[in-house]
Amino acid sequence: MSRSVLVTGGNRGIGLAIAQAFAENGDKVAITSRSGEVPAELAKYDVIAVRADITDAEQVDRAFTEIEAAHGPVEVLVANAGITKDTLLLRMSEEDFTSVLDTNLTGTFRVVKRASAKMLRARKGRIVLISSVVGLTGSPGQVNYAASKAGLVGFARSLARELGSRNITVNVVAPGFVDTDMTAVLSDERRAEIVAGVPLGRYAAPAEIASAVRFLSSDEAAYITGAVIPVDGGLGMGH
Ligand code: NDP
Repeated sequence: MSRSVLVTGGNRGIGLAIAQAFAENGDKVAITSRSGEVPAELAKYDVIAVRADITDAEQVDRAFTEIEAAHGPVEVLVANAGITKDTLLLRMSEEDFTSVLDTNLTGTFRVVKRASAKMLRARKGRIVLISSVVGLTGSPGQVNYAASKAGLVGFARSLARELGSRNITVNVVAPGFVDTDMTAVLSDERRAEIVAGVPLGRYAAPAEIASAVRFLSSDEAAYITGAVIPVDGGLGMGH
């Protein structure tokens, strides 16, 4: 059955791979980003792209209204959009901290809240939040990012308890290091250090994160909620 799916940050990186996975499934896919453009990879599918900065609740609301008009209420929400502003704590400005929280955690609150109202009415829904292994293990230079990603776990588990009786699941995918623009800024030396700590000895491809998201959104995963699924090559084992 073709569902109305929204992937935030679906124009590139992990979000793009997730949007592709749902589009291949035959779902009605909408993506949001700050540019609102459809990337070339999605041109062959009937995907709609809507401009929405997730730090602005009004833009989020307008985007949902547009998506609902085209595809109906969102049945599967993947809150994927996120940023980093890495630096050590003593060099980190308050703006570095709050802007990462505002995008990664409060931005997720904005889109999930807007989607949940309609899911509650429909008495069904799937919500998947993209966290990170770093939210569980910590990482030097990333107190802002790790705090935001750890916050998503508490957010998801609380919401899973709130929405479970209405047949809405809320799960977290915690990727390890994935080849995207976000990790392209890391030096070769840092990359080699990271890979040395990954049991599978490599970065993930974005499609490997998308498979887990697609599974959690499927009928096969109907009894999974409040889960944190690592897709990290073993990097975060034990956390
Ligand atoms: P990219 O930097 O490649 O893409 C980030 C996406 O988020 C873009 O689509 C971007 O849209 C969107 N975005 C950022 N800020 C906003 C905003 N304020 N409003 C709307 N959209 C926004 O990142 P990745 O694909 O690598 O990461 C995707 C998610 O996965 C993130 O949440 C990230 O933290 C997480 N993750 C990534 C890992 C990795 O190794 N790459 C590892 C673990 C987790 P725009 O084009 O408008 O900038």
